Amino acid sequence: MASLVPVRSDVALMDGYHSPQVAVDVRLNTNESPYPPPAAWVDAVRDAVAAIDFHRYPDRDATELRAALAALHGVRSDQVFAGNGSNEVLLTLFLAYGGPGRSAAMFEPTYALHSHIARITGTEVATGERHEDFTLDWDEVTRVLDQHQPTITFLCSPNNPTGRSESKKTVEAVIDAAPGLVVVDEAYGQFAPWSALELVDDDRGMVVVRTYSKTWSMAAFRLGYLVGPASVVEALEKVALPYHLDAVKQAAGRLALDYRAEMETRVASLVEERGRVAAALADLPVETWPSEANFILFRPRNADGRQVWERLLERSILVRDCSSWPRLDGCLRVTLGTPAENTAFIDALTGILGR
Ligand code: PMP
Repeated sequence: MASLVPVRSDVALMDGYHSPQVAVDVRLNTNESPYPPPAAWVDAVRDAVAAIDFHRYPDRDATELRAALAALHGVRSDQVFAGNGSNEVLLTLFLAYGGPGRSAAMFEPTYALHSHIARITGTEVATGERHEDFTLDWDEVTRVLDQHQPTITFLCSPNNPTGRSESKKTVEAVIDAAPGLVVVDEAYGQFAPWSALELVDDDRGMVVVRTYSKTWSMAAFRLGYLVGPASVVEALEKVALPYHLDAVKQAAGRLALDYRAEMETRVASLVEERGRVAAALADLPVETWPSEANFILFRPRNADGRQVWERLLERSILVRDCSSWPRLDGCLRVTLGTPAENTAFIDALTGILGR
């Protein structure tokens, strides 16, 4: 008889990925855009949805979406792979290039899903530590690459949750030193001063991963993509499930690119708010790190991070509690919201911590 066998022993030990979704007035915990997409885009999506042949499978090659993304970035369509959120793109990379007997390098603290997906796919996690100020430690980079010979090396630029981006010099040096594929996760790429997209080349083992969840104000849609060598895209297509990208999402993602100017306006306003919130935090008893993303990491100096998180929540403000994460003792991460939300956050934090 069929029995409830135990799950894989490595899965049994896993913690899963948690980010509490609590009903609050001011939600600043998951780095989404605080602004909805343009109303004209919503109308265009509605029209496109009405024209879909719902009894037919979607275009398996996502031809129009990939062509539009290729035009946006000045690459070819066969250099673009799209998935259900950049998380699925990352999973697909691991399915093709990771797995048992292989390892993936990452430098902590960084985005927790990189190591989580590595474990799910049975890929060894090769971890290096960052400097105290969370910049990359080159000795650690070379140690991890030499010792583990990873098939995948992750850079996250700007890095979640610490906020800084990697310089072009650093990315080029990692590409030179890495024995395998270098993945530059640019989920927050539009907030940074430069993009590794300019380094993508068919002959270079490097890919850039991007998402619609943040700057494009489309977190609900779950759409992300990768730009990289055509041979990598071909490999990813082999392991992705057939028709994994539905027709509604393909249309929505393609139409979003018609509203690029609006996206850039949203980014500019968040960057301005980043300066204002960073300046306000500088007046409070907290340690902060410079951010080139749409969030800021901070650590209350004379108060327990978890307690500060709870007291913000009592005031209906939700930030990300990183206080128990490795290397981030007592730290919280605040996503930049609308000016009113950011002011509510600063006022509440000032009330809790005093000046
Ligand atoms: N990469 C990084 C660095 C992220 O912070 C996130 C979102 N938290 C993602 C990827 C995943 O984004 P999505 O799956 O929504 O595209």
